[in-house]
Amino acid sequence: MSRVYNFSAGPAVLPEEVLRETAEEMLDYKGSGMSVMEMSHRSKVYDNIIKTAESDLRELMNIPDNYKVLFLQGGASQQFAMIPMNLMKNKKAAYIVTGQWAKKAYQEAQLFGEAVKVASSEDETFSYIPDCSDLDIPEDADYVYICENNTIYGTKYKELPNTKGHTLVADVSSCFLSEPVDVTKYGIIYGGVQKNIGPAGVVIVIIREDLITEDTLPGTPTMLKYKTHADAESLYNTPPAYGIYVCGKVFQWIKKMGGLEVMKQRNEEKAKILYDFLDQSKLFQGTVKKEDRSLMNVPFVTGDKELDAKFVKEAEAAGFVNLKGHRSVGGMRASIYNAMPKEGVEKLVAFMKKFEEEN
Ligand SMILES: *Cc1c(COP(=O)(O)O)cnc(C)c1O
Repeated sequence: MSRVYNFSAGPAVLPEEVLRETAEEMLDYKGSGMSVMEMSHRSKVYDNIIKTAESDLRELMNIPDNYKVLFLQGGASQQFAMIPMNLMKNKKAAYIVTGQWAKKAYQEAQLFGEAVKVASSEDETFSYIPDCSDLDIPEDADYVYICENNTIYGTKYKELPNTKGHTLVADVSSCFLSEPVDVTKYGIIYGGVQKNIGPAGVVIVIIREDLITEDTLPGTPTMLKYKTHADAESLYNTPPAYGIYVCGKVFQWIKKMGGLEVMKQRNEEKAKILYDFLDQSKLFQGTVKKEDRSLMNVPFVTGDKELDAKFVKEAEAAGFVNLKGHRSVGGMRASIYNAMPKEGVEKLVAFMKKFEEEN
C-alpha cells in the first residue's frame, strides 16, 4: 500500500486513522454482524451512531441548545435554494459575492426573490475579501449571505461582516472545523462535508431554531423544508447513513487531537510553512491579498502556464497529487485541510524549493 499526499480541494484527504478504523469495522460493526452500510437507519445501533456524531459536533463547536444540527443531502449546492425557500419571508436577501460558490448562491436566490449584491470582489478575480464593516444592507433583507472560505480563490473572512442586525448565513464548506467559531453570530452555518470532514454525500446545517418555521415560500417541497428534517432529527427519510458514520469518526479524531483550538494551531503552522516559502520564492507567488489568505486553500502560480503544468506533472510523479488549480484560476492550489499532516506540507515545500532551483 502506498498513500500519496493528496492536496485535492474536495473530496479531500481524510485522517488515516479514521480510514483504518472504518476499514476494520467494515464487515462487522461492533459485534452487530453487519457493516454500517447494511444497517437500518432506524436501528438502535445506528441511532447511537448518529446521536453520538451530533453530540460530538455540538461539543467541538460549542453549539448552543437553541440551534439544531441537521445531516442532509444534496450537496452544499442544494442549500443555495433551500436557504431562500426557507428564509426569504420578505423575498429579499443581501449577498456578498467573494467567489464562484457565493456567486452561484446569489444567482440561485434570484429564482425566489430579490437577491441584492451588497459587495463583491469580482473586479480583481476574487483575490480579496471586500470591506464589510459598513455595507448598504436593505432594512427588510431577511438575511446576509457569505461564503466564509473561498475554496477556489483561497480567501477567508478574518472578520465577519457587520450585518446591521440581520441574520448571518454562512457557507463554511471548506473551513468547517478548521478553527473555533462563535456559533451565536450566525443564523445558519452549513457546509458539504467532503472538503474538511468526511465523504461526499453529507451536508451539515447548523440552524437557529427560530429560523425553522412552517412559513416557507409557496411550493417548497417537503424535503427542502428545514422543519421536516428538524422535527425528525435528520431521520425523516433515509439519511446518508454511512457518510454520517465517517463524519462521526472524524469528530472523534478531532476531539482526540485536542479540539478546534488545536486544529487552528496546527492549521496556522501548516499554512505558515507554505506562505512563508511563497513570500520569499523567486519562482512561485501566492495569488491573494495577504490579509485575506485562507488557512485551507493556498493558490499559487509561477506566472508561466507551461511551467505550472510542468510543476503539477513532476509533483504528481513525486507523490504530491491534485495540485492543479481550479480551471477558472489556473496555476496551482494546495488544499491543506485538517487531515493533511504537517509533514505533507513540509515535503511539498522541499519539493517546490528543488523545482525552483532546477527551473
Ligand atoms: C465545494 C463547495 C461547494 C459545492 O459543494 P457541493 O457539495 O458539490 O454542492 C459549495 N461551497 C463551497 C465553499 C465549496 O467549497
